[in-house]
Amino acid sequence: AIPLVTAISTTMSARNGILVKDRLTLERTRVVDTVLFDKTGTLTKGTPAVTGTAAVAASSEDTVLALAGAVESDSEHPLARAVVRAAAEVADVPRANGFESLPGKGVRAAVDGRTVQVGGPTLLESLGLSEPADLAERTGSWRSQGSTVLHVIDGDTVVGALSLADEERAESAAAVRQLHGQGVRVAMVTGDARNVADAVAARLGLDEVFAQVLPDQKDAVVRDLQERGNRVAMVGDGVNDAPALARADVGIAIGAGTDVAIESAGIVLASDDPRGVLSVRVLSRAGYRKMV
Ligand code: ADP
Ligand code: MG
Repeated sequence: AIPLVTAISTTMSARNGILVKDRLTLERTRVVDTVLFDKTGTLTKGTPAVTGTAAVAASSEDTVLALAGAVESDSEHPLARAVVRAAAEVADVPRANGFESLPGKGVRAAVDGRTVQVGGPTLLESLGLSEPADLAERTGSWRSQGSTVLHVIDGDTVVGALSLADEERAESAAAVRQLHGQGVRVAMVTGDARNVADAVAARLGLDEVFAQVLPDQKDAVVRDLQERGNRVAMVGDGVNDAPALARADVGIAIGAGTDVAIESAGIVLASDDPRGVLSVRVLSRAGYRKMV
């Protein structure tokens, strides 16, 4: 009877836009009590836009944006694409070479023979730099709005900052509400800054938030939840989510996800709607009923 059930599930799941790569993963979905979502690209659209630029007195906003655009031009990160788009609108962007990605922190490259770096709070911390006083007012107000703040570092001097905003997906709040309605805890993990993560969590009503998590530590968050006795479904899209997807009791990659995420997950959603997790739960119960 099992091949028949598998056949039925596969048909049903194809119709629902759910690809079940591994039937045991689907069965484990029935006992999941915690869903851990990635933030960027999963609960949010993942296509941020630059919403502000600030420069220290010795520099100018256009210079800051042009430098950032130069360094980000070789990065695939959604934040980088937003910076490159904004920079192209204001200035001649200089060429950069020797590009280097600093996972979970930012990027680095040589521009006019100087090292220019762009990144979030973790980058600033790792360089032992602090924010110049004349940027603090602007960046403070950006942070309180829940925006992502990146700093631009020329040599060993912070020359400016950028604000980027990424909207929640329209379906994210409903997904959280429906999971809560079924008694499931909803958590979020992100490499993004604490303020950005908290703003998203407050708007969506999340139970727990893990912020400023480096890419190679996302799976440790899953492990910690499991060690607390939780059965965890992880939902993500990015390369940096792959180890966490593999570690979770149920790994679910969403639609437009990267190949690595899709390979590491037992279940793949065709769409990028986070409510797909609820469809997976329905499917797992239907399959179970037919099997017993
Ligand atoms: P998430 O887990 O939300 O998908 P990432 O791990 O991709 O986030 O990135 C975490 C943080 O690292 C970003 O919020 C940003 O501060 C910094 N960062 C990563 N890549 C870049 C980049 N190309 N340019 C600037 N900052 C970056
Ligand atoms: Mg992501």
